[in-house]
Amino acid sequence: MSGLVFYHRPNTHPAFTVLQSAIRMNGEHRVIHEFNEFLIDAYVLADSLTSRVIALDFDNTITADVDFYIDLIDTYRKHGWEPVVCTLRDDLGDNLTEIHEKLHDSGIRVYTTDGKRKRAFMLHEGISVGLWIDDYFPGISQCGTSFLLNNGIDY
Ligand SMILES: [Mg+2]
Repeated sequence: MSGLVFYHRPNTHPAFTVLQSAIRMNGEHRVIHEFNEFLIDAYVLADSLTSRVIALDFDNTITADVDFYIDLIDTYRKHGWEPVVCTLRDDLGDNLTEIHEKLHDSGIRVYTTDGKRKRAFMLHEGISVGLWIDDYFPGISQCGTSFLLNNGIDY
């Protein structure tokens, strides 16, 4: 397996340092700071500076390296952050079971937006997210919002 490329704007969020050291320990993955959608596997986007919630996407994010993310979830918890899964999937059929089984029933909270943009969905649930990790940023917020612009995504 070749390494994953994570995008993050420099110095934007304290939760990023946890991910950064996990990437360093892993040795195969890397971080870039330039927006290049042809190169990037996962976008690490800063949101609320007071929230302890880390929202992880499932498909093509967690599933791109499940072992890495299981360790990352553990590490985030040890440092007092609250990792959750936020997916565009719905909660029908085997979706929730599949996600929980894949993560070895880590007891993680799973939010299913059923195709709705994640940031608005979570805010509607009363949850502001600190850091998003996701392969598909348009699923988080529509293009042109200050949230994306602040993260260097001028799309
Ligand atoms: Mg995805």
